[in-house]
Amino acid sequence: AAKENGRNQFQIFSESMLKETAERLTMEHALRHALANKELSMHYQPQISLTTGAVTGMEALLRWTNPRLGSISPSQFIPLAEETGLIVPIGEWAFMTACCEGKALQDELGMDLTVSINLSPRQFQQKNLVPVVEHSLSKSGLSPEKLQIEITENMLMVNSEHVLDKLQKMRELGVGISIDDFGTGFCSFSYLLEYQVDRLKIDQSFVKKAGTDANAAAVVRTIIAMSHGLNIKVVAEGVETDEQMRFLLRRKCDEAQGNFIAKPVAMAEFSEVVRQYADGPSARASEPAIG
Ligand code: C2E
Ligand code: MG
Ligand code: MG
Ligand code: MG
Repeated sequence: AAKENGRNQFQIFSESMLKETAERLTMEHALRHALANKELSMHYQPQISLTTGAVTGMEALLRWTNPRLGSISPSQFIPLAEETGLIVPIGEWAFMTACCEGKALQDELGMDLTVSINLSPRQFQQKNLVPVVEHSLSKSGLSPEKLQIEITENMLMVNSEHVLDKLQKMRELGVGISIDDFGTGFCSFSYLLEYQVDRLKIDQSFVKKAGTDANAAAVVRTIIAMSHGLNIKVVAEGVETDEQMRFLLRRKCDEAQGNFIAKPVAMAEFSEVVRQYADGPSARASEPAIG
């Protein structure tokens, strides 16, 4: 019976593996055509200043909706795009789209908004990354000073000379560098002395617990203090509650982003979100902090 059981388990295991492989292949096949079929779009999430309460910029986030598969989350398709190399054309498209739409939003709103764009490891390793960025900037008319590229700590670990060279060239263009998901990577702090970083984005896992968990609160406070000591702007990601917002205000975090402030939206809705935010009891950010 044990033997039979074992075989059944094996069959179940292999069936689920087979199913997973089939799903992956379906998704991969669909992703290959996503660009040509115009299934990709960009959403934009507002970022606000915690000192003025004003919207200061936006993070561009890829969205994929396939007629058969429905909406697929970036956390599912970005890794697949990385593995298959599809991230290169998709990333180029995302970059160009975000620069053009970001510039159009700046013009429409008459605001000097910063546009932040995520780069994944494979994109960062591309030889033509800098020309791609230059092309997106010149075609869109977006000022390089208003562009931030978001990279993770882990990306600074590999092949440091290449990395340094690319970051140097970005800086020469005037483009800013943000460290995304800060605090979750495998990296020493030494890169903060080697590379000129403009912003640290505190990972949402810390932000989420900061209002209730003393250790998470200590991590957030420490990241804020370190950033200020290094003259780097600090941004909290994934702010979901009033409590988290108050904590960040109290601790003098510079900027915040999250569903509590506004969810990522399509370009067409962004201006409305910004206007509502400006009209509203604006500034949640100027409310007196407790404690
Ligand atoms: P990320 O760069 O850390 O982006 C922040 C993620 O948190 C986004 O997920 C955003 O929608 C989500 N988020 C924002 N506010 C909240 C909140 O209050 N609560 C919660 N739970 N989540 C919040 P999204 O859009 O699913 O993107 C996931 C990741 O995919 C991004 O993480 C980024 O690493 C990657 N990604 C997204 N767009 C692009 C892109 O255009 N290019 C590249 N290379 N990667 C991208
Ligand atoms: Mg990001
Ligand atoms: Mg992040
Ligand atoms: Mg991320």
